[in-house]
Amino acid sequence: MITSPAFANKRYAVLGLARSGAAAAEALLASGARVTVWDRQPNAREAFVGRCDVIDPLTLNLTGFDGLIVSPGVPLNTHPIAEHAEKYGVPVIGDIELFALACPNLPPHKVVGVTGTNGKSTTVALIHHILDLAGMPSLLGGNIGEPIMGQTPLEPNDNGEGVYVLELSSYQIDLTFDLDCDVAALTNITPDHLDRYDSFDAYAASKARLFTLQSASSLAVFGSLLDPAGSIFRAEKSLRAEGRAIAADLDALAAMQSEWPGLQGPHNLENVAVAVAIAEELGVRPAQWRYALPRFRNLPHRMERVCEEDGVLFVNDSKATNTASAAPALAAFPPASDLRAGSPRIHWIVGGLAKEDGIGECANHLANIAAVYTVGEAGPRFAELLEGHVPVVERCELVSEAVRRAREASRPGDIVLFSPACASFDQFRDYEKRGEHFRQLVGVIADCAVDCAPAASLSDEAA
Ligand code: ADP
Repeated sequence: MITSPAFANKRYAVLGLARSGAAAAEALLASGARVTVWDRQPNAREAFVGRCDVIDPLTLNLTGFDGLIVSPGVPLNTHPIAEHAEKYGVPVIGDIELFALACPNLPPHKVVGVTGTNGKSTTVALIHHILDLAGMPSLLGGNIGEPIMGQTPLEPNDNGEGVYVLELSSYQIDLTFDLDCDVAALTNITPDHLDRYDSFDAYAASKARLFTLQSASSLAVFGSLLDPAGSIFRAEKSLRAEGRAIAADLDALAAMQSEWPGLQGPHNLENVAVAVAIAEELGVRPAQWRYALPRFRNLPHRMERVCEEDGVLFVNDSKATNTASAAPALAAFPPASDLRAGSPRIHWIVGGLAKEDGIGECANHLANIAAVYTVGEAGPRFAELLEGHVPVVERCELVSEAVRRAREASRPGDIVLFSPACASFDQFRDYEKRGEHFRQLVGVIADCAVDCAPAASLSDEAA
């Protein structure tokens, strides 16, 4: 785990003892801090009984506390803990801030932070993969994989300093104040998580803070330049030395994309361009990233090819929790070079818990849809919006019913695409459970062998 003399004899409260909270509490205890922990679930508290104070910080006078660590899942805009901490002047922080405070005492290293509405996980996993194959020590943390404070610190090797590659949701950035990323990147910003922010501008401003925390000489990399990302890019460019705020060069890479089976679709070109710009800044040579890209296997639930049976391809894109992330999947299948003229081929299973009204960017990619199967709470609304714009709309409610009907209707060469464009919480615990459910259904209904690999993400469907 990551410990630091910076925490010794300081006083912290940790609210929420799920994975990242528990790791933060353990790291603070091992660093010699005085720690108070709380979780509303008694079994989460149990591991700490007898080792530190176990009391709800909402009931405490917080005078003398150096920080209150909350999980990014706590909605600070509505939760009373924010006001309570403010009353005592105690900063409300997250585990990424603890990591930032520990950085000065870690062995020499670099920090990369990636944020954005979509593409964060893919981009950080890709950076990690490129560094790994280049022999540079690196580890993934933040909104993906193991909690950062629970991980073993990196040591430099002959190929350079270790690199901490952090996926950062806007909730995590909101709880971070001292993280100076050597490279910070923004993939894109589209409307999402508006339940946690007063406005779309406030959501964008939360992401922009990642750059304001950097020192002037550090690098800022931008994927999409569509506003509001574009205006953040222009602002950073005007503040930094020449070449220290850059737009990832998608055009330079486009011709190579056919060599990367795990990174198809226009969105993945954006992710690759961001990852390559970051890798080059860290000293990776072009021959090294060129070797790595074809060898990247995409994360589960992101345009994941589940199986092909009787010529029908089943794709699990359960991680598409908003319309902006479902749109690239509709655009990516099948490859434009493979279109049968006049013969639409996608059977699109869509719906869940809506995050927005409308179909957003998906409207630009309806031409190749053979049929839509709507599911979940948002199903009837999607059906209403899509009827008349695609050849067939079937109202299914359950994913099992949708897979069954899509299987029956599909012909060789068709694609059954589960890209819900919605959150999963109406019917599932999270997008991972939803994707696993789809994979299992495909195994049974399409009667094919399906590998049910565990997913890599730590997160809720975080921003
Ligand atoms: P995040 O971690 O930001 O949620 P992921 O890499 O897990 O991003 O991808 C989430 C969803 O967004 C998937 O459905 C994926 O196909 C889609 N996606 C990935 N990268 C992008 C991008 N650059 N632009 C739009 N959608 C994307």
